[in-house]
Amino acid sequence: MRNEQKKEVGAMMSEYKLMLYPAEPDLVVDLNTLKKHLNHLKLLGMELTSSLGNNHYAVGESFLSYFTFMGCSPDIELDPQPDKPFCYIALHSTSATQFVSGANLKKSRCTSCKNELKNVSTTLLCPHCDNPLELDKINWRKSAFTAKTWITIGNIYELEAIPNDELLDSLKKLTGVQWKPAYIRHMKLLET
Ligand SMILES: [Zn+2]
Repeated sequence: MRNEQKKEVGAMMSEYKLMLYPAEPDLVVDLNTLKKHLNHLKLLGMELTSSLGNNHYAVGESFLSYFTFMGCSPDIELDPQPDKPFCYIALHSTSATQFVSGANLKKSRCTSCKNELKNVSTTLLCPHCDNPLELDKINWRKSAFTAKTWITIGNIYELEAIPNDELLDSLKKLTGVQWKPAYIRHMKLLET
């Protein structure tokens, strides 16, 4: 079984990520169930060992068929490399719901006072009205989300690749919840 091999890779990983998350922030998806599902889709390749932790995989043989790539010749590295960034897939699950954002977090508006929110990746309260930010109700325009379980596709620049309906529908069928994409650079986690 190809997937049972492990490949040691360098620590050099791109800070640009495409993430897929369920629209229900408290939903927990068992990672073994998710892994089996993505294996079945041939989205996952061999497991990688890296300093980043468990549940990291090379991309599988059908990876390219689940995304629409923008631009005529996407310059993405699909094979694991020891010394340069490449595409990989990682599965995450946390016990507390996380607000996942990054250096590219877009401006938005507080749902209570409607004031503009800037650089709010480290606070749970609105800096204008002090009300709790409704993190899952604010439109972050694909630059942040709240979730307990999510999928990372590493080394994808913002809007470079868009997940297609076949992939998103299959995740919805598996979990009963719609899944959405976000593009994150230099990820920050904030426990909610
Ligand atoms: Zn406010």
